[in-house]
Amino acid sequence: MFIDLMRAFEPSEIGHEEECGVCGETFAAGAVVASAATDHRDGMGNACPACVEALGRRNPERFPTIEVYEEANRRYPEPVFGSVEEVMRLEERRDPAVDEAYDARFIWRAAL
Ligand SMILES: [Zn+2]
Repeated sequence: MFIDLMRAFEPSEIGHEEECGVCGETFAAGAVVASAATDHRDGMGNACPACVEALGRRNPERFPTIEVYEEANRRYPEPVFGSVEEVMRLEERRDPAVDEAYDARFIWRAAL
């Protein structure tokens, strides 16, 4: 399993209640979420802060620590785009900025 830290794409993602992809508990997503994936890079949803903390303590070589996660949330309190309408406008125009932003929103990636 891998964890990547990823910025919210648009404002409605922040504060969105979701189930942790690891433990199944409900939590509110922050401006930066811990995106979990299997070893084959299949998406597992986002990991809650408690799981980030546990995994980072268990194996800080492989997972971001809770300190890194919290620092990322402090550093990137805003989503990449100001509104979902802005994203839709850019997608309609097939603006490459959207694809670039999809890649750029990963601020911590697991080393493979
Ligand atoms: Zn969890």
